[in-house]
Amino acid sequence: MRRFLLPALVIVLVLVFAIRVSAQGPDDDVQVVRVYFDNLAQLNELAALLDVWEVDRSQGFFVAMVGPRQRDMLVSRSLRFEKDETLTQQMNAPHLMLPGQTSGIPGYPCYRTVEETYDTLAALATDHPDLATWSDVGDSWEKTIPGGEDGYDINALVITNRNIPGPKPKFFMIAAIHAREYTTAELASRFAEKLINDYGIDPDVTWLVDNYEFHLIPQANPDGRKLAEAGKSWRKNTDNDDGCPNSNYWGTDLNRNSSFKWNEGGSSDFACDETYHGPSAASEPEVQAIENYARSIFPDQRGADDFDAAPDDAQGVFVTLHSYSQLVLFPWEWTDTQDAPNKAGLQTLGRKFGYFNQYEVCSDCLYNASGVTDDFTYGELGVASYTFELGTEFFQDCSYFENTIIPKNMPALMYALKAARRPYQNPSGPDVFDLSLSTATSDGSSPVTITATVDDSRYHSGGHGDEPVQNIQSARYTIDAPSWQGAVVHALTAADGSFDASSENVTGTIDSSGLSNGRHLIFVEAQDADDNWGVPTAIFLEINAPCTTAQSPTSMTETIVNQVDMRLAWAHGGATAYYEVWRSTHPYFQPGDSSAELRKTLQVADGVFEYVDSGVVGDPSSQYFYVLRSANACGEFATTQPRSGEFDFPLMPGG
Ligand SMILES: [Zn+2]
Repeated sequence: MRRFLLPALVIVLVLVFAIRVSAQGPDDDVQVVRVYFDNLAQLNELAALLDVWEVDRSQGFFVAMVGPRQRDMLVSRSLRFEKDETLTQQMNAPHLMLPGQTSGIPGYPCYRTVEETYDTLAALATDHPDLATWSDVGDSWEKTIPGGEDGYDINALVITNRNIPGPKPKFFMIAAIHAREYTTAELASRFAEKLINDYGIDPDVTWLVDNYEFHLIPQANPDGRKLAEAGKSWRKNTDNDDGCPNSNYWGTDLNRNSSFKWNEGGSSDFACDETYHGPSAASEPEVQAIENYARSIFPDQRGADDFDAAPDDAQGVFVTLHSYSQLVLFPWEWTDTQDAPNKAGLQTLGRKFGYFNQYEVCSDCLYNASGVTDDFTYGELGVASYTFELGTEFFQDCSYFENTIIPKNMPALMYALKAARRPYQNPSGPDVFDLSLSTATSDGSSPVTITATVDDSRYHSGGHGDEPVQNIQSARYTIDAPSWQGAVVHALTAADGSFDASSENVTGTIDSSGLSNGRHLIFVEAQDADDNWGVPTAIFLEINAPCTTAQSPTSMTETIVNQVDMRLAWAHGGATAYYEVWRSTHPYFQPGDSSAELRKTLQVADGVFEYVDSGVVGDPSSQYFYVLRSANACGEFATTQPRSGEFDFPLMPGG
């Protein structure tokens, strides 16, 4: 039923509900209890019905928030449970502004409200238009209901250097789909801000923002979040038209409403339950916004069958931030009797996250849940997908958030972005760290020594199996671009003379004499004995060479290739850092003229002294002339500029 029902009927219903609510006493006497279970089947059955906060399998209990109805159910099943006085008291404690607090959630100034999250991330995009965009990608439930609360937009932040064209690997993250999980939206916002604030300062952030995309829905459940900000232990959205008569319990669990494996166990049919899955798959506008957004940025990389694996070179990482329990979970979550077809790859990347945040990493260690977001992004699209359960409380105190959650999880999220290109492959390979150069700034007169540690053993599962570890087999570096973009690769050697361990110090030299002045990125990667390459780590090298006069190239020749391409070749003039090839239809043009077009800049360090202008010969309208000019490392050009012969044109096939 919707709010546009006849007013009389609404009044009747409200009266009925009011009687039921008042009959249940203040706050329905909600308690936090420990419930002891006998076996996993019982845990799974109860977790589908109750608001389970955390599970302790070794001691055979879980913690859940229960009202009188749930307690009656537990009694009727002869289950042992006991009230947790501390957690119950904490849950019911009012959230008041601290002395002097002017922003953030009352009592928790480190967590931005929905409005503050939106305002600061929108400003981030306004202030950095080349790097960030902020856009409306959907509505909250209240916003879709005529006559309802105002509600909110669902907004997405995208971070990437828009001056560098794609397609680029993508890392998509959402936060706060469960309203009360305070830490999640703030961690996500801080990560976005780190990418912007460290761009141009941190080498890894710089190349990742240039070459990859980060997508974030920071507040996936803003309606529910507003109730949680007021201190309510609110999990769901605020959808109130599915038959729950009690305003303390209505709402759909947005993490049981996804369209993949919707209502296949581990969720509830009853609209008052905290795990209520909604009336139909993806019935909620928040879930529609998330699913539509994921489909818009990721191709479908997995077949329709449960056992179809995404290819090993599939791209994309998805993380949904939840709290709490200090876990990294990966699909499948809807079943514990069959593995996700990409289980090995999902598990390896999960254990890499575990290395950084030291959380337990598993897929079947909690309880079954269907219609969850990460089963959707993996199951529907083949994206390597994870749930992080941050920290130890929903209303986590700020000191733990700042001092533990942030430092543990920022490196895990950085790794998630790095892994987005090959999430099922790179995490098997070694990490590169402690990367350093003998000098951060070189004048180009002597080689620069590069050193790093590479390690194939950086995994952590917290008791859920061991990741295979191999010896290091090789290491390499590239300049200005990662290896897969065609950069020349240079081998690094083992500092102790041979690659024979899973952790090695590596070293090598960079010939900086041919590098142009300015800042360069050096990318280092390593490979293990099973041929797995890990993700690269980068460092800046500044070149500050003294400027000698650029010398002009000599002996320029023009040759028609394949009757369609024009090949220019020349001899290296020396004392030159780079060449520019200019083209115009005017025979006597100068570089920089309005008719002139810069075709290519060639670094002398690349050792290539030719340029092929493709497809210019044979078009009757194409009567092109070329000028080649050379510059020193300071960008000062040689005084003479070879130009193409005027009598060779127009160029016709066979001409
Ligand atoms: Zn959650």
